Amino acid sequence: MPELPEVESFKRYMDKTSLNKTIKSVEVKNPEILQKVDKHDLKNKLEEHQFQYTRRHGKYLFAYLDNDYWLVLHFGMTGKLIYFKDSDQSPLYDRILIGFKDKTFLAFDDPRKFGKISLVNKMDVFIKEKKLGPDAWEIGLKSFKNLFKSRKGAIKTVLMNQHILAGVGNIYSDEILFQACIHPKTPVNKLKNKKIEDVYTIMKEVLKTALDRNMANQKLPESFLIPNRVENGKCPNSDTKLETIKISGRTAYYCPECQKEPI
Ligand SMILES: [Zn+2]
Repeated sequence: MPELPEVESFKRYMDKTSLNKTIKSVEVKNPEILQKVDKHDLKNKLEEHQFQYTRRHGKYLFAYLDNDYWLVLHFGMTGKLIYFKDSDQSPLYDRILIGFKDKTFLAFDDPRKFGKISLVNKMDVFIKEKKLGPDAWEIGLKSFKNLFKSRKGAIKTVLMNQHILAGVGNIYSDEILFQACIHPKTPVNKLKNKKIEDVYTIMKEVLKTALDRNMANQKLPESFLIPNRVENGKCPNSDTKLETIKISGRTAYYCPECQKEPI
């Protein structure tokens, strides 16, 4: 599932391929992924216009059009962007296909169809309406610490809650907590100041490593939890078999040896 590093790499991909080119056609193959816009309106607002620049907030990608609208993309479980030159190369699950005048294409490909696309006037209003917290990449240490004040929930729940902090999901929260040696169920009010600072530093490092590796098409280091986050997977540090628990409806992976349950 695309989280902050993946969406940031889609942003950079779009910047590299799809800006400042006139859109010739918009083909909506699965209108159910549209939110607050119908396919005719989307066609009208995009065709004959150009994307000028993009922004990202959490797991959302915003593409600014020269007519003052923003195309908003959310990649759900399996969404991604595919840019191609030959119309025969159209990907298998393109839900929306944008054709440019230079005969190239940008597809929103999404096998499982949990992705969402909208068109909005103002990016900040959208972020407010969705009640998104600050972006996990942009946030400073002081604001990060403030997120934990007067909260009681499990640290994993807090990190994954897009209304508190936008961009980190199930997979990267597992990685961050593994590297910080914190059990995912630990209540945030039990974490010492220093530990929260560690979580912050590790979060930034994890997101940066994941983004760098994504951009270079490389796998994550073997010392990370994520490559071992599979059935019967083992902790890369202690060789202990990883365990899973359900937290906020998601399956968390953790090492029972390195991430002791709070007493
Ligand atoms: Zn371990």
